Amino acid sequence: MKTTDIIQFVRKTFQEPEAFIPLHVPHFSGNEKKYVIETIDSTFVSSVGAYVNRFEEMMQGITGAKHAIATVNGTTALHLSMIMAGVKRDELVITQALTFVATANAIAHAGAQPIFVDVDKDTMGMSPDALLDFIENNTVQRGKDVFSKKTNQRIAAILPMHTFGHPARIKKLVEIANRYNIPLVEDAAESIGSYVGDVHTGTFGLMGTFSFNGNKTVTCGGGGAIITNNDDVAKHAKYVSTTAKQPHPYLFFHDEIGYNYRMPNLNAALACAQLEQLDDFIVSKRKLAQKYIDFFEGSDIVFKKEPEGTKSNYWLNAVQLKDLDNRNTFLTELNEAGVMSRPIWTLMTKLPMYQNCEHGELSQSLWLEERIVNLPSSVIGS
Ligand SMILES: *Cc1c(COP(=O)(O)O)cnc(C)c1O
Repeated sequence: MKTTDIIQFVRKTFQEPEAFIPLHVPHFSGNEKKYVIETIDSTFVSSVGAYVNRFEEMMQGITGAKHAIATVNGTTALHLSMIMAGVKRDELVITQALTFVATANAIAHAGAQPIFVDVDKDTMGMSPDALLDFIENNTVQRGKDVFSKKTNQRIAAILPMHTFGHPARIKKLVEIANRYNIPLVEDAAESIGSYVGDVHTGTFGLMGTFSFNGNKTVTCGGGGAIITNNDDVAKHAKYVSTTAKQPHPYLFFHDEIGYNYRMPNLNAALACAQLEQLDDFIVSKRKLAQKYIDFFEGSDIVFKKEPEGTKSNYWLNAVQLKDLDNRNTFLTELNEAGVMSRPIWTLMTKLPMYQNCEHGELSQSLWLEERIVNLPSSVIGS
């Protein structure tokens, strides 16, 4: 397939004959201005305010989780969920090598070190086989806990990620985690509006986390959320996210190390207005994905479809090129033509701060790293 045809197709689809076409931009067509002005008029712009609570209720409604805790961004949601999962300094957390750097960073923020395992080629999320293989061959069980054979550090959590909104094989991953008594947290940052069957991503593990950064499906400038069905975890997460202050009419007494991680009301106002439009956004994004599917059908470029049995939000549309040379030519030509396209992330094991971390066999991650490219995926207004 010729790249000039692809460029022409994207330009036609976005009805943009000449201008630069970004990868993903926010779409504000609802109550955004109204709600934000309301918060300014009320003076409740910071972490106390009606929109923060409303945002949490909306997240519960959308995901079906019993609790939602609003945070300042997705990275802090992940950091807090690591602490809530019981991850301590110098412990280990198993995650995937192919992910956005924030997943690994959150593990490091908790003072722990990541272990990187492979992904599945179809879902691009953590491979249950790779996870099981790593645990069976590289760890020992002592009492209730699992330790790395190599370093004798405890494996405190498992952190898979739903890549580009496509759900990973989460049921199998949770089954393995439960078998070894290791808490599992889902990095669902990219997958608001994505389901396995009719169950929302982020609700399978002990916790799930979301991001509302400017490039995500739903944005509030910066924002995040933790969802959980566990009452104790929810209560503790909210407490710790707001400096761990004991309730008292006037005294400042804090009984553990707390964080200033609660989402400000100003951002929550934007988030509520955006979440009201989530269904429309998903319809638009799935329509766009179907156009890409039809366009690439039968060509030498493989469009990455939602895994079987799942419904993806198609946050970022992704195609698979034949090899690294093809990928590089593709990226150069599209970007030069003003059609923004980006490669999938460099593997975590190749980044200087994580290159010495323990890892499993990574053939699928290496294969995808050389071939996957994202195409413009913004919501197209009607
Ligand atoms: C966006 C993203 C995050 C981080 O979210 P921020 O809100 O930018 O901090 C974490 N993990 C993944 C997979 C993401 O895509």
